[in-house]
Amino acid sequence: MFRSGYTDELMVQVRARTPGENEFHRAVHEVVESLAPVLERRPEYVEAKILERLVEPERVIMFRVPWVDDRGEIQVNRGYRVEMSSAIGPYKGGLRFHASVDLGLLKSLAFEQVLKNALTTLPMGGAKGGADFDPHGRSDAEVMRFCQSFMTELQRHVGPFTDIPAGDIGVGTREIGYLFGQYKRIRNEFNGVLTGKGLGWGGSAIRPEATGYGAVYFAQEMLATRGEGLEGKTCLVSGSGNVSQYTVEKLIELGARPVTLSDSSGFVHDPDGIDEEKLDFVMALKNVRRGRIDAYAERYRRATFTAASPRATGNPLWAIPADCAFPSATENEISGDDAANLLAGGVHVVSEGANMPTRPEGVDRFVAARILYGPGKAANAGGVAVSGLELSQGALRLNWTRDEVDGRLKRIMSEIHRQCHETAGEFDQAGNYLVGANIAAFVKVADAMLDQGIV
Ligand code: NAP
Repeated sequence: MFRSGYTDELMVQVRARTPGENEFHRAVHEVVESLAPVLERRPEYVEAKILERLVEPERVIMFRVPWVDDRGEIQVNRGYRVEMSSAIGPYKGGLRFHASVDLGLLKSLAFEQVLKNALTTLPMGGAKGGADFDPHGRSDAEVMRFCQSFMTELQRHVGPFTDIPAGDIGVGTREIGYLFGQYKRIRNEFNGVLTGKGLGWGGSAIRPEATGYGAVYFAQEMLATRGEGLEGKTCLVSGSGNVSQYTVEKLIELGARPVTLSDSSGFVHDPDGIDEEKLDFVMALKNVRRGRIDAYAERYRRATFTAASPRATGNPLWAIPADCAFPSATENEISGDDAANLLAGGVHVVSEGANMPTRPEGVDRFVAARILYGPGKAANAGGVAVSGLELSQGALRLNWTRDEVDGRLKRIMSEIHRQCHETAGEFDQAGNYLVGANIAAFVKVADAMLDQGIV
């Protein structure tokens, strides 16, 4: 039976069992605080201890990753794979290479991934992995040696029917290539163990574009509920990696006006708008030359660069007046103050390309202001959805065209939007996409767990 206080007690338990894993506590809290109405309606979830089981990863793998840098010095990093839930399909989720990677962060991302994957309509469980390796400033040869060492251990734990990793921060097509090459060499199998593969060797059209495009399609769906479109809207985009680049590309195509991009060194603001030619410059800067974003302001003189300040409580990027915001860099990039600045500057659409980019205080402000707030687990699910389509194409041994994959991506984003919108309405929270996403995803996973017994 559900009783008030159940979710609070659960959080006490989670914090006690996982001390110091603050990101994980936050991710779990954000979900469980939305679930009271469904737990009240479906007491069997409480009796079967679905939540108690869901917050405990099915498996966690941690391993040493030794490698040799270009100077001949031995380096040692720590690798991880958190296999959170396989209730609705094999484990699926990205690999992150970044200095900030630790167990708590990866558990939070894996927990989000379980729910995100459930929303995609495709049969995928949830996982996340990576290493505390920072690829910045490393040569291609160093990145290759690191990836080979990482995969030498990871290959024992993954497989096309077990666990299928993909890219995330610091893991793009280059890294997926090195990882796949090593997997194939050790296992002597060419299969769909990784997604995000190159088009010529098992990849899918639109996979690099999918997360950014999907976040824009989700914004379109939210705007359509108010009879609006993206044309002519001024948009703030953060980050300048994979998700940001394709968010900007789709915004330009739809007639919107993206005006910002960032990286960890700061942000650029281009009041004239970022057009196709400027985006080509950014793609070459980031994907080929691997340079910093201030080069944009050197090239386009009307744009300004603002350096990041480690001591600042807010990011001035979010104080620029605009209609829409697409946070697409990393977690916690929008504080409560930033959210207030966004609202004051006229933003009434936030579609999260990044995972958990808005701190809880910011989320509360967006929800209270009743703006169109699309949480990451719904808005950025396009990437993993097209990863699912990459698996389908691999299994069929054929490639769908760009238009075919893009059409499927659009339909999936529309279906994710429908589930969130309708579920929120069903639980008397019309327009609250956060509650809608959490409940719709949870019900799908919980029902599968009920069917499969106590495992
Ligand atoms: P990416 O290509 O590596 O780009 C990440 C961008 O964010 C870079 O511009 C990076 O700048 C910036 N960034 C990273 N950490 C930062 C920090 N601590 N402070 C400020 N800026 C930071 O990664 P991505 O694939 O675009 O992923 C971006 C976000 O989307 C992540 O939250 C990821 O989990 C989420 N996401 C990605 C996918 C996908 O398909 N790739 C799918 C769903 C969600 P620097 O280069 O200076 O670090």
